[in-house]
Formats: sequence, structure tokens, C-alpha cells
Amino acid sequence: MDYAPNLAAEVTGTNDTPLAAVRPLNSLMPVSVFNFHHVSSVLPSWTTEGRKHITISASGLRQFIRTIKKLGFVPVCLKSLYKDPTAYNHQQGKRFCLLTFDDGLHNNYEHAWPVLQQEQCPATIFALPGKFGGVNDWDDLHLPPEQRDALMSRAQMQEMAASPYITFGSHGLYHSKLKDMKRPEIHKELHDSHALLQAALGDAYVPVFAYPWGEYSDLVMQEMANSPYDYAFTVENGSSDTHHNPMLLPRYTVFWRDGNVFQLRAKLYRHGLTTLWGKLK
Ligand SMILES: [Zn+2]
Repeated sequence: MDYAPNLAAEVTGTNDTPLAAVRPLNSLMPVSVFNFHHVSSVLPSWTTEGRKHITISASGLRQFIRTIKKLGFVPVCLKSLYKDPTAYNHQQGKRFCLLTFDDGLHNNYEHAWPVLQQEQCPATIFALPGKFGGVNDWDDLHLPPEQRDALMSRAQMQEMAASPYITFGSHGLYHSKLKDMKRPEIHKELHDSHALLQAALGDAYVPVFAYPWGEYSDLVMQEMANSPYDYAFTVENGSSDTHHNPMLLPRYTVFWRDGNVFQLRAKLYRHGLTTLWGKLK
């Protein structure tokens, strides 16, 4: 199915969405989305078990940002774009990207935020409003509660929301397996998380969604069509263009090694984003 933008068609069926606010990201496509999870103060060690591969150090994150900017990527601030859909018009022709962080981890507040501020790099955090101030209780189930990764509190998210660089989106309420759920439960996850984040974070929250574990079902997709969300992200590799279903936009997972400039350049080449000579395609 072709999802080329057709604003008139997209507006049909919406009630009070102004035309200018419909699918603002489409104007910046193709867009490459880079998805992070944990950020640590030091290089991750093997003792961080299963989390190691999706943990990047703060200095690795800094290196990542500097490298992609040097290549010519422009990281996009989603809340600025939602406030003013023409915000990036003066940069048309550039290669846009989104940096996203899944789960709303406390280590993002502690270690990623200072780097994002210093590098003046916008990012979007997909949060779980059913677990404000809680812990990651969906992975590493063998760990006792005190060893599980902390999630940001509501107050910490509000503090970050005041930053010009931080946007929030929804990751559902509880990091649930949406593909195994029935319609009323899916509806609750999609709608309640949207309402809670909007109430807590105001304009720093925009209606975009990231599927927990990147998983969805036909039922989830049906519910998504009647949800408040403009876009939803998977964890499949790829860059998004206007032909993608807006509810299935791919993202490149960032691994610990991508904090190394040579590894990152190799990854970008492998995914066809750069030429053999290291230039953006
Ligand atoms: Zn997640």
C-alpha cells in the first residue's frame, strides 16, 4: 500500500486536528531514526549482562552525535516541529534524523541529558507513564527488584521537558506485549498513556508511539488507526520515507560499539546511508 502524503485524505475523519498539524514529520522525509536505550557513565562492561549491547557510554553518545552531524545529518526536535511545521523549511534538502531513547530510563536523565544539552542535540524519549519512578520489570526477570534499572520519575521528566532539546512520546503504559493483548487492553495502553503524558508534560509531549519490543499485531494496527498518534516506530532497520506506513516507521538500533567513530561509520555504510568514501548518500 502506498502511503504518499495526501493531506486532504488524512484530514478526513479527524475532528479538530488543524491541517498544519497533520503528520508534520512527512515534510522532512526521508528521515533516519537512531534508537538508543541505556546510557552509562563509562564504557559498558560484560558485567552489565544482556543490557550491554544496548548500552552506550556518555562519551560514546557524544561521539555518535558529533559524527552524524559532521556527516551532514540534522537531528530534528519533534516538539519544535509540532509547534511550527515550517520550523525546518530553511533546511530543506538536508538529511534529517531523529534520535530516540526507549523506556524513559533514569540513566537517560543522569547521563544522556547533559550530553544532549552540551551538544545542543534534540532527542525524543518514549516513556511509560504507568511506571513513573518505577523499575524495568520486563527484562532480566532473574534480577532482584533492587538490581533492576530505574525509570525516571514524573518530576524528572518534567525537568527534562523544560529543555529546548527534549521531546517525549509514548511507549504505552507498562511496556506490555501489545501483540498478545485484546482490543480493550490495547485501547487503554494507547489512549491512557497519551492522556497521562500530555497531562504531565504539555507541549513537550507529541503524539508519537514506539511499540514495546517493536511488536504489534493486526489488532494493534487497527487500534492504532483510531488512536491519537500521528506516527509509530518499530525496531526494524531502515530509513523512513513518505511511502512507509506512518504507523510502522523503522529505526536503526544503536549498540554499544556505535559510540566508536569507525564502527559507526561502518554501520552507516552497511545500511546504505553513506558511500564507501564516507559521504552521506
Ligand atoms: Zn522498550
